[in-house]
Amino acid sequence: MSMVKLVYASTFEKGSGPNDVQNILNVSKEKNKDNNITGVLCFNHRYFLQCLEGGRDEVNKIYNGIVSDARHKEVVLLDYELIDERLFSNWSMSFVRIDELTQHIVLKYGTTSNFNPYEMLPGMACAFIKEIAAERLRFLEAERKLHQKNE
Ligand code: FAD
Repeated sequence: MSMVKLVYASTFEKGSGPNDVQNILNVSKEKNKDNNITGVLCFNHRYFLQCLEGGRDEVNKIYNGIVSDARHKEVVLLDYELIDERLFSNWSMSFVRIDELTQHIVLKYGTTSNFNPYEMLPGMACAFIKEIAAERLRFLEAERKLHQKNE
């Protein structure tokens, strides 16, 4: 079966609830795992940028649900393509908060350090997600080592 990668940008619907992003993540991790979907969700309090990868039918179905989710708006498809291999096979849904720690990566891919995924071209969005996810992994690994050392 064909495997695809889908990347979209959207805007958080303010007032949909303080725990909404956590709720979205909890449901996503479960549902993506059940459907063999992997990917990354980036968020900066205003915009979402998400990459989903997996079987074409599964990704399309999940995306249809995402598009009609009232917790965000202005969903714009940035990239959709057939792939031979996954970029994020370890993550049913990794979450990356875009903050001051990741500002240098935002600046690398944009004219300012303000995160605006709507301005990203397809290849750019994917490269950005890949780099920011790798940074997140390095951070988690450093945190894990520090924790081990302090035990
Ligand atoms: P239900 O929970 O019954 O959903 C039915 C419909 O209601 C869906 O269209 C859903 O979009 C909408 N909905 C559900 N909860 C709420 C709510 N609290 N407020 C408003 N509308 C709601 N799901 C995944 O499985 N994988 C993902 O990677 C993923 N990423 C997401 C990223 C973002 C930015 C957002 C906003 C949502 C994401 N979701 C993801 C959630 C997805 O939209 C569905 O809520 C989820 O898949 C469950 O849908 P369902 O039809 O099985 O169940």
